[in-house]
Amino acid sequence: MSEIPREPGPQPRQAPAPTAPEPAQPQEAPGARRNGAILEVEDIHTYYGAIHALKGITIEVREGEIVTLIGANGAGKSTTLRSINGLNHPRMGRIRFQGKDITSEAPHKIVAMGVSQSPEGRKLFPRMSVLENLEMGTFQLKDRSTFKDDLERVYTLFPRLAERKSQKAGTLSGGEQQMVAMGRALMAHPKLLMLDEPSMGLAPIFVERIFEIVVEINQQGTPILLVEQNALMALDVANRGYVMETGHIALTDEAGALAKNEQVQKAYLGLD
Ligand code: ATP
Repeated sequence: MSEIPREPGPQPRQAPAPTAPEPAQPQEAPGARRNGAILEVEDIHTYYGAIHALKGITIEVREGEIVTLIGANGAGKSTTLRSINGLNHPRMGRIRFQGKDITSEAPHKIVAMGVSQSPEGRKLFPRMSVLENLEMGTFQLKDRSTFKDDLERVYTLFPRLAERKSQKAGTLSGGEQQMVAMGRALMAHPKLLMLDEPSMGLAPIFVERIFEIVVEINQQGTPILLVEQNALMALDVANRGYVMETGHIALTDEAGALAKNEQVQKAYLGLD
């Protein structure tokens, strides 16, 4: 597996902490890629029927970064991921991946382009083995030449999965199932990994391990868009963050600065 250097992604906590965070407002010509952005989401509006779930979301993920989306239940975090992965296309706005417009692209094509997701609730095939679940991650790949290396990478990151490769996924613990979901996403050889609530429902010891592995995956060269309710942990591992509130981006900043932001501390970190 080739290593991509973390630059130009900023390191957590090393960037200056601006006092007045500015909303991201990208306005670029079609086809342009700004400052190393691998993913550019520009002012998207996404609906469920008549429900206007996303009301102008603008975010970006740059090469080498971990970017986190935090916010309360129902803020629109999962819908943002569903807009990016093609499951719920925005009615307005634009999404570019590696400079290509994917706003209306089909989900399987988006996976094939290199956007892979570990979904909320894991969505494993419970009667299939760990290995079979991991293989499902390669379903959309045309080039399977990296299969062995990808599997090796997953087993190195999650030795528990190597030990349990023949076990039915439905009989694993919650933490182990989360590992399979992340491993399956990695088997798609992603250029961008999206993680939806990887810590949900896990015992604290597993939560810590999962976040360590998120950092490890990123250090191996994979940019990550991380949706989390556990804002404290998410801001601890991320380079930058976006705070979502009812379909809007309320704040965006370096992760370290967000963790120190009074408003964020009160609303999401349980600190007074
Ligand atoms: P959570 O952490 O609870 O998953 P979230 O920030 O991911 O929250 P979303 O699941 O994206 O939030 O939901 C955003 C809004 O869209 C909410 O108002 C929600 O009720 C609505 N919504 C989500 N899924 C659907 C659906 N299938 N049909 C109708 N409305 C939906």
